[in-house]
Amino acid sequence: MSIDEVLRAQDFRVTRARTLVWQVLDEAQSHLSAADILQRVHDHDESINSSSVYRALSLFSELELVRETRQGELSTWEPAHDDAVIHLRCELCDTTIHFDAPTVNNLRKQVGNITNFTPTSIDVRISGVCQSCSSAT
Ligand SMILES: [Zn+2]
Ligand SMILES: [Zn+2]
Repeated sequence: MSIDEVLRAQDFRVTRARTLVWQVLDEAQSHLSAADILQRVHDHDESINSSSVYRALSLFSELELVRETRQGELSTWEPAHDDAVIHLRCELCDTTIHFDAPTVNNLRKQVGNITNFTPTSIDVRISGVCQSCSSAT
């Protein structure tokens, strides 16, 4: 389903800002800050204002189409994906790499078995130095 169909199916209007924000997130397949998203939206259409972009992001969050990650003051967005992914974040260039790991689902089981706590969402993040940064030094 395209984003237009998803929005229409839930009775939301399809606007140029919504379509473009989605297109930018979908193309990047990585974590973008609001400023990155705004800039990329402007590469397609200068006339879209920042508040339309922010509103589109909060609507997508509400509809659980995007995943928001907070890093201190800064949030980044990406298309929603399965929990079973570990985020590897480079401290030098701020790139986020997705690492598919069955560990996350094992962790979910262990938490459930050992503590009786039912995890609804798991967000594992590892900070470090990516390959291109470590080979640059
Ligand atoms: Zn790096
Ligand atoms: Zn992610």
